Amino acid sequence: MKMVIFDIDGTLTNTNTVDEECFSKTCQEVLGLEGVSTDWGSYKHSTDSGIVDQIFREAVGRPPNPSELQRFIAHFVSLMDAVHRKDARRFQVTRGVERLFEQLVERDWSVGIATGAFRASAELKLKLTGIAPLTVPLSTADEAFDRTEIIRRTMQKILEASPKVTEVEGIVYVGDGLWDWKASRALPAGFVGVTAYGDLSRFAKVGVQHVVPHFEERDRFFQYLEEASQFER
Ligand SMILES: [Mg+2]
Repeated sequence: MKMVIFDIDGTLTNTNTVDEECFSKTCQEVLGLEGVSTDWGSYKHSTDSGIVDQIFREAVGRPPNPSELQRFIAHFVSLMDAVHRKDARRFQVTRGVERLFEQLVERDWSVGIATGAFRASAELKLKLTGIAPLTVPLSTADEAFDRTEIIRRTMQKILEASPKVTEVEGIVYVGDGLWDWKASRALPAGFVGVTAYGDLSRFAKVGVQHVVPHFEERDRFFQYLEEASQFER
């Protein structure tokens, strides 16, 4: 079996901006915190749960309790939903995502999603954009602060859904952030970088070999997945 696991924001969808906006607004409206850093890469864990945990500890000296966390997530997701109702164009799907999962399955790839977003946020984006059925194995920041661990959870879910499989021949994570590349290396797994909305040079700087601007050039993407899956494990 070969596995390909996707990040959501900035990879499958153009939602980094709306995500950042709603997150910052939630920090203001729920926690009363102005000017929270949006340099997500500077946090210990660049995932929603990890960032909220760190923000809380720094602001009040302890992690959020379950009801505080629930309140934060509910507010965050309601803001995102409101943005979508006002302007659905802010939730664009990356070029070439249409039929991508089906075609990967036809090529014997098992597909999953591992996101640093909270589950409610991830499911809302999947629902609003229609990019993937909610039956696709999905792990989120609700399960761990650490992205490597979140990817590992998705791998586990893919394996549980395929009980007859005994051998994993290759694993590739597809993401738009340097933290995605770092998480792949820690796993370890192969990596394909996506630069649909971000700085084109960030992957080149660290020597990532397989980078695509989007998913429209199917042959190139499939070839990169094959090459990246040969990553020595
Ligand atoms: Mg991302």
